[in-house]
Amino acid sequence: MTTNSDILIIGAGPVGSYTARRLARQGYKVTLLEKRPDLGGPVCCAGIISPDCVKLLEGEDLPVLNAFSGARVYSPNGQVLELKRNSVQAVALDRGLMDLKLAERAGAAGAACVFGIKATHIKADDTSVTVYTNDNRSNVYRGRLALITAGFNPALTSSLGMGIPADFAVGVQARVEMKAPLPLCIFTSKLFAPGFFSWLEPLEDGTALAGLLCRKNAAAAFLKFIKYLKEEGFIISAGKPQYRGVSLKPIPKTYSDRLLVIGDAAGQVKPITGGGIFYGLKAAECAISQIEQAFEHGDFTSANLAGYHIKWKQSLGRDIKLSRLARHAYEKLSQRQIDKAFATIVRTRLVEKLTGDDNLKFDEHG
Ligand SMILES: Cc1cc2nc3c(=O)[nH]c(=O)nc-3n(C[C@H](O)[C@H](O)[C@H](O)COP(=O)(O)OP(=O)(O)OC[C@H]3O[C@@H](n4cnc5c(N)ncnc54)[C@H](O)[C@@H]3O)c2cc1C
Repeated sequence: MTTNSDILIIGAGPVGSYTARRLARQGYKVTLLEKRPDLGGPVCCAGIISPDCVKLLEGEDLPVLNAFSGARVYSPNGQVLELKRNSVQAVALDRGLMDLKLAERAGAAGAACVFGIKATHIKADDTSVTVYTNDNRSNVYRGRLALITAGFNPALTSSLGMGIPADFAVGVQARVEMKAPLPLCIFTSKLFAPGFFSWLEPLEDGTALAGLLCRKNAAAAFLKFIKYLKEEGFIISAGKPQYRGVSLKPIPKTYSDRLLVIGDAAGQVKPITGGGIFYGLKAAECAISQIEQAFEHGDFTSANLAGYHIKWKQSLGRDIKLSRLARHAYEKLSQRQIDKAFATIVRTRLVEKLTGDDNLKFDEHG
């Protein structure tokens, strides 16, 4: 059987469902394909987004587990920096429920949501794009345009000739039981997350998410981190960890004939923090404006869809580049250098200056 649509969207993460809803609302016939049979279960993501990002998602009803007006940052030798502002800077969402809610909204807006279907092969020709799935060889999905919003997925993007992220990390996270209430804690020790950071993110019910980013040996690094959290009296116990790839550099090409790649699949992620929800939504907006133009002119060629690549680069390219430079500099620091930097920050009261500067924003500066 062939299902025909205007637009096929592959992957019902935040970016896919957000885009599906926006396009369905505009009257396009949208089919959203998702490989997970059920949404709502745990996702390897801290779910921290800014109030601006919540607004962009029209997310008043999203499942908020906590709200943060600051964070406590630990240096490798245990110095503490308290970052604090007077208003909420970020909220922690239940990422599993968020995915479910956003997909339900896409459905309510008119998108056909098909769960438990994995896109295995995509083929574009002069008249349409066809998505083959693991469902059944004779069950295919055909559209005028397909959007790849399938998350960190080098296999899929490279099979489409769009390359892979040239730089990436591994994220690992587990639900833990806290010993006592704490603010959002960030740990900079290279013992657990060399070149990156680890976190303890309190949720509403005495539990927290403990996680870290690193380049290799994620399981061993995470065990060390959990051991430290237990020994230092932060947590009592930890659940089973989940793992996921995180792009640190966008793929070289995010468009092709009848295809656009958006979100983590495109590597539209903050290289400093690995946060990708806000950037993915911003890129989705760029894609939507290019899609409107493509349908208006009936032009789904690579040459025309390149406009999307230009738009998101204009919107996010500079920040991603600067953030990558900062990441490289940070990765080179030794434990002692990080400790020294902390001491300098405390001595010069830099934190007060930075947190007092309204130009510094969670979304733009991580
Ligand atoms: C440990 C960790 C913590 C993080 N914390 C934060 C944070 O606090 N804030 C933040 O902004 N970002 C965070 N991120 C990054 C964030 O999770 C991603 O940027 C975000 O999920 C990207 O959304 P997406 O929709 O592009 O992709 P995803 O959320 O990965 O969604 C992709 C969807 O596509 C589906 N899919 C994949 N392949 C196929 C296929 N072949 N066919 C059909 N469906 C498919 C997947 O099942 C999934 O549902 C974190 C990442 C990690 C690893």
